[in-house]
Amino acid sequence: MSDLISKNPYKTRSGGCTCTVFVPYDCNNHCPFCINKKEYADTSTFSLEKIINSIKVIDSITPCCDFVFTGGEPLANLESLQRMLDVVPLTHKVYINTTFPVQPNVSADEVLSFVSSNKQKITCINISRHMHPYVEESPDELVSRIETRKRINCVLYKNYNGDDKLYDFAKRWGKYQIPIQFRYDYTETTPENLYEIDNDAVLQDLMRHFTYIGLDGCRMRNGFHFKYYIEELGLWERMTYHKTLPYSTIVEKDKEDGITYDILYDILIKQNGDFHSDWTNVPLDIEKYKKVKFEPYDLKFLYKNEKEWID
Ligand code: SF4
Repeated sequence: MSDLISKNPYKTRSGGCTCTVFVPYDCNNHCPFCINKKEYADTSTFSLEKIINSIKVIDSITPCCDFVFTGGEPLANLESLQRMLDVVPLTHKVYINTTFPVQPNVSADEVLSFVSSNKQKITCINISRHMHPYVEESPDELVSRIETRKRINCVLYKNYNGDDKLYDFAKRWGKYQIPIQFRYDYTETTPENLYEIDNDAVLQDLMRHFTYIGLDGCRMRNGFHFKYYIEELGLWERMTYHKTLPYSTIVEKDKEDGITYDILYDILIKQNGDFHSDWTNVPLDIEKYKKVKFEPYDLKFLYKNEKEWID
């Protein structure tokens, strides 16, 4: 047993931790904020079969948890992605994090048709687009043709392109009615600055350009909700600013039973099929996870401007 695994029993929210699956194949990009890239340098231990078995194990423990497929690039190998999706029953929500890549061997229509044929299963496709184009971007119009729910994720990394470009970036997607999630660089997030408002320069930039309508959050992460008006369409669109801690376990003593638990928010299936209980290389004790205690999810609205709110 790894020294990194604590002796504390596990606790998680009702339904189970979100399970992030790292696909066993890479992307062609080198984003400066990427912490996954180095894991794809040596693919010798990667195993699609082991990942598939691990997905089945998690499904048997928490049959309604969320799965997130990430990488690497999930859409770079459609055949393998299909095999993984095929073992995820419809009881789960499924999210795919992708750059929606331009690929030499697969046509855009093939990728769109893959998504279409799995639309019953895919809850949302999160497409990475940034103020600096770190990745080779497929045309926006192509992204707009994705048949499932979709969202643009944009990391506001270090010197992002200036506050006056934020609104233009949002409008670029707003015209297709695709919501944006701006993301704070999570390597910089701490428990102290997670809910910081006055000293968060990015948040202050956003407050100048968008209408702030609400805040939801939990111990681990939050979302500052905004809306903005798209004149060409005569409608309002949503934008969220998301902050999360760089780890996903909180150690806390339960007030009722007096036991100290590792409260897990995210678990991972790595490229070789191994289970991890955190982003920080801590293995998951799967036998202990089978006995996980559940608590109500602590994500809740902390502020909501009912007059301005849009869904
Ligand atoms: S596209 Fe994703 S996996 Fe690839 S380098 Fe960028 S952040 Fe990392």
